Amino acid sequence: MKKSNSNYSPTRIVIVGGGAGGLELATRLGNSLGKSGKTQILLVDSTLTHIWKPLLHEVAAGTINSFEDELNYFAHASKNYFEFHLGQMKGIDRTAKRLVLDPLTDGLGHEIAPERSLRYDNLVISIGSTSNDFGTQGAKENCIFLDSRAQADRFQREFLNLYLQAQARSLQTTSPQVLNIAIIGAGATGVELAAELHHATHEFIRYGLNSIDPSNVSITLIEAADRILPVLSTQNSAAATKQLLDFNIDVMTSRRVTAIHSDSVECDGGIFIPATLKVWSAGIKAPDVLKDIAGLETNRINQLVGCSSDPTNLTR
Ligand SMILES: Cc1cc2nc3c(=O)[nH]c(=O)nc-3n(C[C@H](O)[C@H](O)[C@H](O)COP(=O)(O)OP(=O)(O)OC[C@H]3O[C@@H](n4cnc5c(N)ncnc54)[C@H](O)[C@@H]3O)c2cc1C
Repeated sequence: MKKSNSNYSPTRIVIVGGGAGGLELATRLGNSLGKSGKTQILLVDSTLTHIWKPLLHEVAAGTINSFEDELNYFAHASKNYFEFHLGQMKGIDRTAKRLVLDPLTDGLGHEIAPERSLRYDNLVISIGSTSNDFGTQGAKENCIFLDSRAQADRFQREFLNLYLQAQARSLQTTSPQVLNIAIIGAGATGVELAAELHHATHEFIRYGLNSIDPSNVSITLIEAADRILPVLSTQNSAAATKQLLDFNIDVMTSRRVTAIHSDSVECDGGIFIPATLKVWSAGIKAPDVLKDIAGLETNRINQLVGCSSDPTNLTR
């Protein structure tokens, strides 16, 4: 006799975080296990759309049309045999095997959905990283971080606003308008952002935003190590330094930032670098939500340890 289907619930793999890793995994699992109908693949992300993080410095500089590079999770899920659920992970109930999500709110703080939980059989956590300011005084208040589309958009707005302010000021005075930008941390993000901003200052002129001459935009890249891109080879680092210097970008190495102020960056030795726009790209950590989550062991930068890449390991 054929078994009744009424109580049948397929194995459910829940993936939290639809970034470079999670989105690829959901897509591949969707098109294999999900398509067969025997396994349900569910992707959870705190945003409705995905943009590949390595493009964020271009979004910040305003040199790409980010809407063209954005992927809508619902649309992508429907074409690739998985489901999408909008929500932010708050915790895990490992005994009941449920993923707990924060209440969902709109941009104005109104609640759209209350705290809720989703059943899982296997759970994959792929929520990426956020910037680590190492508790540097004033960093949170005065720096922009480039962890998300929203933060890149914020930088873009503030960058453009400074040009608009300069345009208005130039109606009142003939003195040249200047702009100081400091980028703290010369890893891939800081280096790419510096070069992209140089490019943007020339692009603005083409679009008629000519109130600040590119030669009056000072971009300073500050790095604590003795060379930029310290994880790459010395040859790559030297080639990138030469390129940045050719762009008139000030490259400061062996310089540790001790505090960030509203109009400057303070370095050891009492050196103050004037800066209106300040970007922090000096380190990363796993998101704070992972700290002490469900009794799982984490290291000093919140990364889960003692869990293999086997997703079932997390469900124990
Ligand atoms: C400006 C910039 C440039 C970069 N350039 C390069 C490069 O050139 N080459 C390179 O290899 N790498 C580069 N990287 C690093 C690369 O982007 C990351 O290594 C990669 O994105 C990590 O993938 P991930 O899936 O682990 O996390 P992410 O891609 O960060 O995705 C994490 C996802 O989790 C979601 N999320 C976070 N918290 C929660 C939560 N609590 N609940 C639900 N969802 C959550 C986020 O919305 C996001 O969609 C760059 C990064 C930046 C910021």
